[in-house]
Amino acid sequence: MSLKLSQNAAICSENMLTSEKHILFVLNEKAENSHAFTDILNNKLKRSHGKFKDLNKSPVSCELPNGNMGSFVILGETLSMFQKHTLLRKAVKPLLDEKPEALAICVFGSDVEREANACAAYYVMTVNSAELPSRKGSKSKQDSKSKPLKAISIYGHKADHDYGDVNARVVGNTWCRSLTMLPPNELTPTIYREKVKKLAKEHGWGWEEFDMPALKKMGAGAFYAVGQGSEPMDAAIVHLTYKPKKTSKHIALVGKGICFDTGGHNLKPAKYMQGMHEDMNGSAVALGVLLAATMQQLPVKLDCWLAIAQNHIGPLAYKQNDVVTALNGMTIEIVHTDAEGRMVLADTLTLASRQKPDVILDYATLTGSMAVAVTDRMSGVIANCPELACKAMEAGAAAGERIVAFPYEEDMDSDLDSDIADIKQCTLEGGGDHMHATRFMGKFIENEVAWCHADLSSTNRKGGLGAVQSDVNGFGVGFGLEMVKRLITN
Ligand SMILES: [Zn+2]
Repeated sequence: MSLKLSQNAAICSENMLTSEKHILFVLNEKAENSHAFTDILNNKLKRSHGKFKDLNKSPVSCELPNGNMGSFVILGETLSMFQKHTLLRKAVKPLLDEKPEALAICVFGSDVEREANACAAYYVMTVNSAELPSRKGSKSKQDSKSKPLKAISIYGHKADHDYGDVNARVVGNTWCRSLTMLPPNELTPTIYREKVKKLAKEHGWGWEEFDMPALKKMGAGAFYAVGQGSEPMDAAIVHLTYKPKKTSKHIALVGKGICFDTGGHNLKPAKYMQGMHEDMNGSAVALGVLLAATMQQLPVKLDCWLAIAQNHIGPLAYKQNDVVTALNGMTIEIVHTDAEGRMVLADTLTLASRQKPDVILDYATLTGSMAVAVTDRMSGVIANCPELACKAMEAGAAAGERIVAFPYEEDMDSDLDSDIADIKQCTLEGGGDHMHATRFMGKFIENEVAWCHADLSSTNRKGGLGAVQSDVNGFGVGFGLEMVKRLITN
């Protein structure tokens, strides 16, 4: 990302903005009649029977002199980061729809407000102007005309940094979204592994892979059961390491990377198979967090484990009533082949926990029951210690990505009792699969490592979510990055 940034500490006046064609005004409630283009905004509000204070619910955009365009929004101090991001996304959209090469942000209010709002506005602008993969109209003239955003000017706050940390978050989020959006024929496990290898080289990460023969040899039967159904058998667990000179903590990131999920022999109907190329989103989130943390040079050792596979049908694919032996020696009775995520993660979590990190954070589009519980507006976490669940909710709130914590209760284990194996993979009765899945996966963590599992139900929401306006929104990268930072400091 190469953006030209200019910062001006002075509160903007109309004269300062004559060369700016697309301007975002971030106001506070007290700024009525004391900001640039007051008359134009007031006239527009009068015409549409709006009130100034309503700009904290719905932003307004209007034409400015010389054919320029302004978008006005109020960010009240009591709003959550999610609400601020949502308002900014709505305010920025009419500006970005014109595909500008330069944008201006004008912030008003107290020093603290201007600093915080400049940062939030910068994030929302840059994340929504990032280029994403599209196979639509690639030859049309319109597309060839639009150029990416090149410059941002901020008026009203001069930071002592160049928003490098925000840029890193944007890069992480954009990588996550780009990978997730790729059609499944463009992101097979083979292609995904190649991309990750290249990325590892670029960023100096340690890299190793456990391919199917290696996994078979080491006895990772839970992962292998899923990978064996694909031709070619190109599934693998990829292990990346970021280790700066100075580290205070050791954190493992784990991600579910199912490049396409047919459901296996318990085949999904078409309606539910639609979009199943996005079932690798958890691994893309883990990768996005690793990437952003690397760019921010966070003082932490990060191990990143990507469980990359597809869930296919075929003569070799695993089936109901199979019994397989996981890496930790536990036998698993297969109950439903569409519950493949917990299978690939089981062995991956064992590998991650054997390195005895301080904490494991995993990300997965795991269960439909989490979406039933919290909708696609937020995602859920379940942790094996309550403090970690609290920390996750706080990190989510700070990042503008809403997180709900669910309990991790031992008595649920009885639902997974099997007559023929050590544990059942899932149950076919009742709800609560997001909690059963977590109880199941918890059995494969060794050395009593603290662990927080994120079930990403909000990874795709029509019309965008929070800061991000694309349906695939990269939810989890901001939250994950914030979580890592909070774990470093205490
Ligand atoms: Zn599945």
